[in-house]
Amino acid sequence: MTALLEVRGLKMHYGTVKGDVKAVDDVSFSLEAGESLGIAGESGCGKTSVALALMKLQPGNAKFLGGSITLDGMNVLALDDEKIRREVRWKRISMVPQAAMNALNPVFTVKDQIIEAILTHEDVSEKEAEKRTLELLKRVGIDPSRAGNYPHEFSGGMKQRAMIAMALACNPEIVIADEPTTALDVIVQAQVLKVIKTLQRDLGLSMILISHDLSVVAETCERTVIMYAGSIVENTSTVEMFRHPLHPYSVGLIGAFPKLTGERKRLESITGNPPNLLDPPPGCRFHPRCPHARDVCTRIVPPLLETHENHMVACHMVNRHPEYR
Ligand code: SF4
Repeated sequence: MTALLEVRGLKMHYGTVKGDVKAVDDVSFSLEAGESLGIAGESGCGKTSVALALMKLQPGNAKFLGGSITLDGMNVLALDDEKIRREVRWKRISMVPQAAMNALNPVFTVKDQIIEAILTHEDVSEKEAEKRTLELLKRVGIDPSRAGNYPHEFSGGMKQRAMIAMALACNPEIVIADEPTTALDVIVQAQVLKVIKTLQRDLGLSMILISHDLSVVAETCERTVIMYAGSIVENTSTVEMFRHPLHPYSVGLIGAFPKLTGERKRLESITGNPPNLLDPPPGCRFHPRCPHARDVCTRIVPPLLETHENHMVACHMVNRHPEYR
């Protein structure tokens, strides 16, 4: 099956006065139509940078140094700003941004902001845009009678739902949700995740959910990708990831995560801190923190290889590198 979205060897750095921040290095993954993919990892591991690159919304100091992003056969990186605005953003790929709750404009009503998003991207009448807005709000669980409210009249959960409605305004094929529940309390978080899951299933959306919280990814996604220091270290189905994580970083992350069932165990933490991406360690970027590191790990970057069916890992130990002794 051809993937709807294919990212191959993506490399994007940020130029700063201190040098290049190697934020995204050799990132490859694909997304099938209707699939939900979670990208997880500690803060600063490059998750949001990947998401921004997919829509070419990267900051001005970002440099693409290699790789490709292909959306349904179209080379996204080769599109100029006008084309990406007209043909991709919001219409084919949309985003619920980080801190979405503060993304609504306080001086316009929620309804007017969603109508505006539709009118900017589609050639429809204002009446049609309004009809669609009210339907969208209903879909995300907001009573259409509240559509004329200003953002400050909405609770945090309602604002988040309104942003999800806005992301769906132009019927995109792919929705990227970047930390969609971070600022919400657990009850509202569960409600918003339910809305996202239901919409994904009912509308047949492809979804990329970015979170530092593994429970959010486990709850919502069929496939999980773990990123560490700008690279993907493991990629497999969510069930497999939580049952049989193989990369030492994934094992550490999942081990640090409290379980609701089974025997009560002391939670283990990963020692050390993620590296400074201005000057990441050579070889495997995880080697200074890895309990299994050997000499080869300090010299050679482990490639992401399919170790088992549908399970890719970037680790010399797991992939039995001949020099791993
Ligand atoms: Fe650890 Fe080496 Fe595997 Fe990196 S490549 S995770 S350092 S064993």
